[in-house]
Amino acid sequence: MDINNYDELIDKAYEKIPDNVKKLSRFEIPKVEIRIEAKNTYITNFNKIINTLIRDRKHFIGVFLKKVGTMGEIRGQQLFLKGIYKEQVLNRLIEQYSKTYVLCRICNKPDTNIQREGKKNYLKCTACGAREEIREK
Ligand SMILES: [Zn+2]
Repeated sequence: MDINNYDELIDKAYEKIPDNVKKLSRFEIPKVEIRIEAKNTYITNFNKIINTLIRDRKHFIGVFLKKVGTMGEIRGQQLFLKGIYKEQVLNRLIEQYSKTYVLCRICNKPDTNIQREGKKNYLKCTACGAREEIREK
């Protein structure tokens, strides 16, 4: 399918959603709170963030560390990252993750789950029923 047409289709689908539903779909990811220690970064509110994203920790961390381009691991309630990173950068990457893997592209709600089929992953929305192939960026 042509990408331009595809975007148009999504816009059209979105227009059909009543405004009150659009308003309800506001979804706020907590901004990262960080602590720098010995040239490493700790995301101290990681638990809060992952609970909002309602995604598997391992999946999130796998994608996130690749995007940040570093090594890291969960340490207690925190996420440890090797190296020093700015909040804005981390917030932007988390937002990217949520756009790709959490928010429905049709109704923008986070009531979704990831379905794997062969080599492809789909984001299935339980709010509007849409099922969209996940395209990694
Ligand atoms: Zn949806």
